Amino acid sequence: MRGYRPFDFRPFDKSSDYGTISVNPFIVLGTNPTVKTEFEALVENAKACTICAAYLPLGPRPVFQIHPASRILIVSQAPGRKVHETGIPFNDASGNRLRDWMGVDRDTFYNPEKIAILPMGFCYPGTGSSGDLPPRPECAPAWQDLFLAQMPRVELKLIIGTYALKWHVGKRQGANLTETVKNWAEYWPSVLPLPHPSPRNNIWLAKNAWYEATVVPVLKKRVSAILNKT
Ligand code: SF4
Repeated sequence: MRGYRPFDFRPFDKSSDYGTISVNPFIVLGTNPTVKTEFEALVENAKACTICAAYLPLGPRPVFQIHPASRILIVSQAPGRKVHETGIPFNDASGNRLRDWMGVDRDTFYNPEKIAILPMGFCYPGTGSSGDLPPRPECAPAWQDLFLAQMPRVELKLIIGTYALKWHVGKRQGANLTETVKNWAEYWPSVLPLPHPSPRNNIWLAKNAWYEATVVPVLKKRVSAILNKT
């Protein structure tokens, strides 16, 4: 486990007027006690997260898409302002290109039982002088590993951006993004570092035409094979 954990979901013993009781944090108590699954409790806690609220210009609105049955995981950076407003990730030209690279339609892409989307920062971090700010550094240590533990069937992780690469590829990265993407076969078939699918990355994609010519067909084939599994 990297960094600190703001929540500890393990059951623990606690002294009470009734002696020592075992407390399970996944049992959410209200006027009508409801027993939640670990997954449901985790999603509920993440949706209510305010850990770095003081630094978020538009306040917390965690955006992610997950399901315990997901077989493909997209790890991205952080929502932009539009995603913050709509709550829909990759609902733009970047998403169109990403869906094209994966060979999936919108229905498949937004089906969490098939594809999970987990940004390194769940909430819009604001904008600086050179565009959107990086994901809040509190977010991934708080949530990434807890969410990954809830998706045991993931067979392929698509990694977008330097923060996601640092977390999921770590020291196995190349000297820069281009080198890491060029060395894609080293991480295959469980991990694939992607160049950003944004139109703002068109120059990189034009300079590195080998990527769409050689890597994208392999990606499409693997995505299709995974999604067609029963
Ligand atoms: S960015 Fe992450 S850590 Fe910060 S409030 Fe949103 S969910 Fe919580």
